[in-house]
Amino acid sequence: AGPEVSSPKRTKDIIAKYGFQFKKSLGQNFLIDSNILGKIVDAAQLDKSKGALEIGPGIGALTERLAQTAGIVTAVEIDQRLIPILREVLAPYENIGIVHGDVLKLDLKALIAERYNATDRISVVANLPYYVTTPILMKLLEERLPLEHIVVMIQKEVAERMAAKPGGKEYGSLSIAVQYYCEPQIVCTVPHTVFIPQPNVDSAVIKLTLRDRPPVEVEDEAHFFRIVQASFAQRRKTLANNLSSLFGKEHREETAELLRACNVDPGRRGETLSLAEYACISNALLAKGW
Ligand code: SAM
Repeated sequence: AGPEVSSPKRTKDIIAKYGFQFKKSLGQNFLIDSNILGKIVDAAQLDKSKGALEIGPGIGALTERLAQTAGIVTAVEIDQRLIPILREVLAPYENIGIVHGDVLKLDLKALIAERYNATDRISVVANLPYYVTTPILMKLLEERLPLEHIVVMIQKEVAERMAAKPGGKEYGSLSIAVQYYCEPQIVCTVPHTVFIPQPNVDSAVIKLTLRDRPPVEVEDEAHFFRIVQASFAQRRKTLANNLSSLFGKEHREETAELLRACNVDPGRRGETLSLAEYACISNALLAKGW
């Protein structure tokens, strides 16, 4: 076997051979660092009994590592120009399936049912296109796909928001949405020198371990997330003010009462509340028919 796909020389050779032109609009920044790839794959805790689903394989740097470590590997790539390149570069690996498509439009439940054995534990492992990180992750979580881990390289600021605890400026509705479904852990931060072309933001690898069940009891998830969104609508406003914009100013005192019943001071800001406090508030509002 020749040098691995991620080696800078092999990457440059592949790009030159096919005359590939990077599309910035598709978030194409290819990884050329073996060490970082090792950290991503290690974090996913794969072995030959497990499946890997990759989003955006590019020219196959990470896909190759996944094929060596995991059982069945499926890679979904939106850019038609990369499909023949992937097929040729990854031809030595029999456990890889390449799917041409937009991950946001694909029926991932059906894809998983089709590609893997029913008993396989599957993880998403990817160096995500940064322009659609949040929609992709929310789709994976909201569709409740049967996943063990999600290990992804994303923009560092987004990783910090996902993993943030109450009280800081990074904590917001994204932290709550992610932590409702998973336990987040930042694996490492990554300098932009390990990509070609280099992105103009810093990156981090985040590992999300899917929970068997949410950490709090929520009667109605859509309602819970609506309350969370509203509580951060204007970050400098108090919780009582943000929520009474939602239910009408005339209900301000009633809203404050209800917050107190959940042991939450109405003067607090949304960014200081835990998931449990949001769950209590949402359930109490629902009980009132709000
Ligand atoms: N995995 C490769 C690596 O690490 O070198 C490439 C990562 S690059 C940051 C992101 C990849 O996602 C690109 O190959 C891009 O074409 C692809 N992509 C962008 N939007 C996508 C979408 N909606 N669905 C599937 N793939 C997408």
